This record gives sequence, structure tokens and C-alpha cells, in this order.
Amino acid sequence: MNSIRSSLTVCFLALLGLALGLASLLAYGSACANQENQLRAQRELVERRFQEKSREEETRRDEALLNQAQTIARLVQYQVNWGKFRFLELYSLGLLSIPIDSNAYAMVPLWGLQSTRNFANEMYRRATPTIRFDQDELFHRLDGQVAEFFQVQTAWGSKYRSLSLGDHSLPIRLDKFPADDLFHWIFEDETLSDSLKVRKVTLKVSRFLSGPYTRTRGASIRVPPLPPSPPNEFSFRPTIYVQCAFDLAKTEGAIAGFGIERDAEVHAYVQEQAQALKVFRDWLIGINLLTFVVGGSVCLWVVKVGLEPLRILAAAVSRVSENEFRLDANLAAMPSELKPIMQRLESTFLLLQKAFNREKQATADITHELRTPVAAMLTTLDVSLRKSRSVLEYQGILQELRASCKQMHSEVERLLTLARLDAGADPCRPELFDLATLCNDCVRLIYPLSRERSIEVTLTGESPMEIKSDPGKLREILINLLHNAIHYNHNGGRVDLSFAARPGSIVIEVRDNGLGIRPENHSRIFERFYREDPSRVYGDGTSSGLGLAIVKGFVDVLGGAITMESTHGKGSAFKVVLPAPIGRESGIPVRA
Ligand code: ADP
Repeated sequence: MNSIRSSLTVCFLALLGLALGLASLLAYGSACANQENQLRAQRELVERRFQEKSREEETRRDEALLNQAQTIARLVQYQVNWGKFRFLELYSLGLLSIPIDSNAYAMVPLWGLQSTRNFANEMYRRATPTIRFDQDELFHRLDGQVAEFFQVQTAWGSKYRSLSLGDHSLPIRLDKFPADDLFHWIFEDETLSDSLKVRKVTLKVSRFLSGPYTRTRGASIRVPPLPPSPPNEFSFRPTIYVQCAFDLAKTEGAIAGFGIERDAEVHAYVQEQAQALKVFRDWLIGINLLTFVVGGSVCLWVVKVGLEPLRILAAAVSRVSENEFRLDANLAAMPSELKPIMQRLESTFLLLQKAFNREKQATADITHELRTPVAAMLTTLDVSLRKSRSVLEYQGILQELRASCKQMHSEVERLLTLARLDAGADPCRPELFDLATLCNDCVRLIYPLSRERSIEVTLTGESPMEIKSDPGKLREILINLLHNAIHYNHNGGRVDLSFAARPGSIVIEVRDNGLGIRPENHSRIFERFYREDPSRVYGDGTSSGLGLAIVKGFVDVLGGAITMESTHGKGSAFKVVLPAPIGRESGIPVRA
């Protein structure tokens, strides 16, 4: 993507989409989890209710069974077959005689009460009372809510069974009843046949129990008090076992109904939750779409506003040309991030403008520098060709032409030197040499010029001083500086060349008491083609503004630094500092 705006917009929209998607996923996930929990809780609640109802149903059924058994126990009547017995009482002898059959009597002493009771019991057992039972009364007392199966049995073997039992008989497990308990009941599930399973209660009512059976047994069973026994009932009661049974299929049917209700309730709740989840999902999608559209629009606007300064800056940069280097944009109105860029651009454009002007100036200067000697040569040639000359005159003209050519050659050489420095084609070629000798040579070389202007040149420094550097470049540096010191000096002035060793460096200084340089021009003095006063031409007319630029270039190649101090009208001092290794013993620069 080439456009920053498109990239930012796409990025922002992608992030917005991602954030919305994640938030929606989290919200939807937590809603699902919440619903899952609610559903689980609801299931448990419904299941608990179902269990409770089932238990209530079973309890209600068991209570009804026990109630019925108790009612039956109250309604049961006995008829003893007294016809089987004949009493012959021999009270006068203290004996009770009972004919057991037509030929035999049983004699029982009345004083042996215990044996009398056992005997009597045995007699009753033999008499085997017949059980009588009024079913209508039972229906009446239980408001018709009668379990279809019931059975009454005495400890002596008499039995009464409801017609509904048919061939079936409800079994009694006497061993489960405590012998000393007067009133006791047991609930059991019984399988009478493959198709008939019943819930059964067996109620034991002892013959010693009288009055209404109000005693309860078992925490969950509530036994209502029964109405008193009917009058004129046979008062003797053998221990009886009353059994009542419900068809389990009926209870199971009721419980199955509760199960269906439970399942329906859970299903309805699940449907309700699914509907709520769907509504929530639709809302979520709607809100996401709306947020995305609004967020996207805001994003487009923000990106547009945010990139506006860049657009302004780009427009300002595009207006920059070779005629107008100024950046036409308000720096104060720019955002802080762009300010340094703009400042950098402004300074770069300023440098470019200077370089551009310098190049223009250089072209003009080179043209001018070359045109002057060429024009001089042409003039000399024209004048000399106007008439025939003597050999001596021609020799003089040729001498003049040679001087002009020399000047041109010198300029071209300087330009070539700078070109080589720019291209890095003139590296440092270090070698050991004596700095004092080199300085002395330079002073001697410049001597004709100084003498011509009556300028005294002095040389100060330790001799010999061997250093390792590039002597050719150092010679060029010193000659240029000495040349300038004489050039820009008064006749009869003074130039001092000095050199000294410092820890880690060699310092060479060229000082004069000449014209000096104006403070405002100090910073430009090493620029190419810069001349403080272009109209002034000294001496041989070789002032082209390239000398100090070459000096600076050479000092850089040697790894040193050059500085200048000058006072206008009083003189200047150029100081060259070259690096030198530190000696092990003396701590001063090694000169070898
Ligand atoms: P030029 O060939 O003109 O001497 P330079 O680069 O050597 O060029 O010098 C640039 C300008 O610096 C000169 O034109 C002159 O104005 C000034 N200058 C250089 N050296 C001195 C000096 N020692 N005293 C005063 N001005 C100097």
C-alpha cells in the first residue's frame, strides 16, 4: 500500500474490527456460559421439584395404604364357632371341664390361672374365629379411596382376601415383625406376577391392643386417629395382620406424568433461553455493525486531519525550486512530530541554496579566472600582430603569454586538487621526515615574495623534529598559509611560522600582522572561491579563493584540524594541529 492514508485507515479498521470481534466473542461467550449455568440451575430445580413431587406422591400413597390397613383393622370382626364346644362346669370341685368331642372331656383346674389362660388360648385357636368384614363400611370411611388389593390374616390362620386378589396371595414375612411390638407396619414392593407389581403395607395389630390405633411409626407416615370400634363387637381380638396393596403401575404412571411435566418445563426453558440468546446475538451484530461504520467514519476523518500537516509540508516542499529555496509553511502551526523534520528540511534547503549559489559563484569565478588570462593573451597577441616586430619584442610578447598560461595552469591545478580531494583520490602518504627542515624549505620558497614586499618571515621550533605524516600535503598547507600571510599583509609587515610538540599532537602556527579578516567573514573563510574582497588582486594575481579550501581539505586528509583567529586590521593566525603518537618514556610526541 503506497498511501499512508490508506495504510492507516486499513490498519485502524482492521484493529477496530479485531477489537469488536474479540469483545463480541467475549460477550457472547460469557452470555452462553451464563445461560449454561442458569440452565443447569433450572434443571436442578425442576429435577428437585420432580423428586419432591414423586416423594410426596409415594408418601401420600403409603399414607393412604396405612390408613386403609388401619381402618380395615378396626372394621374386622370375628365369629367364633362355639358350636364346637360344650362346657360342663364343676365349680364345686374347683374344676372347669370342657367336652372336646362326644366322648372326651378336658378338665382344667381353676386355680392354675396361667394354665387356664393357655388352655383358653388353645381353645380359641381351635375354635378359629371366622373373619367378618363390612366392605361398604370401608368404602364409606375412606370416601371410596380404597386400594384394590387387601388381605387380613390372624395369627391363628384365618384369612380374608379381597376379591381383586383373585388367585394371588399377599405374602407375610412374620420374622420382620418384632414379637413384643403391639402395633407395627412394614412397607414393601411385591411382585405378584409378571404383570403385577404392587406396593404393599403389612400392619400388625396385637390382640392386647385396645382403643383407636393412633400410635405412629416411621417419620414420614401420618396415621389419622380412627373412630371408635362399633358397639356389640366381639371383644376378643387375636393378633391380626392387615395387608393393603396398590398396583405400582398407577403410582409409576403418576410419577411418569410428573416426569413429562418436568421435561416439558425444561424444554420450555431451553427454548426461552435459545430465543434470548438469538436476540442478544442479533443485538450484538447490530451494535458491532453500527460501531464499525461510525468508528470507520471517525477513523477516516481522524486520519485525514492527522495527515493534513504532512500534506501541507509536501505541498510546501513541492514549491521549492532553484529560484525559491524557502519552505513556505508555518513552522509554529506544525505538529511537534513534524517540527524537527521541517527544521531539518529548512536547514538542508538553506545549505542547498548556499551550495547552489556557491556553485554559481564558482562557475562565474572559474570563468572569470580563466577569462582574464585568456583575454590578456588575446590582447597581447592582437597588439603584437598589428605590425612586424623585432626578435626581442617577440620574445617579450611570448614571455607575457607564458605568464598568463602559468596563471591559468595554476588555477586549473588548484581545481584539479580540489576535485581529487572530493573524490578521495588523494590519500595521506605518511613517512618520517624532519618538520624543521620542511618548514625551513617553505620559508626559503616564499622568501622572494616576502623580500619583494619587505616582509620579515621568522621560523621558530625545535630542530630537528621528526614526525610521521604526509610531507607533500604539509608543504602545500604551509606554502598556502605563508603565501596568504604575505599576500594579505602590509609592505614591511611580519610573518611568524612556528611549530611545537604537544602531548599527542604537533601544533604548527602561521601568524601575521597584516590586514586581518572581518568577524562576519570568519565562518566563510574556508569556503571554496570565497574571497573577502573579490575586487582586490594582490601580487601575481593568483587570488582565486581556493587556497584555504585546499588547505582545509589537506588537513582533513592528515587527520588534523585547522583553526583561525583574526582581528581585522591587526592580523591573523592560522593554527594546524596534527595528531602524533605519545612516547613511552618522555610522554611527549614521538618525532620518529
Ligand atoms: P586566495 O587565493 O584568494 O588567497 P584563499 O582561500 O587563500 O584564497 O583565501 C580566501 C580569502 O581569505 C582571501 O581572499 C582573503 O580575503 C582571506 N585571507 C586568507 N588568508 C588571510 C590572511 N592571512 N590575512 C587576511 N586575510 C586572509
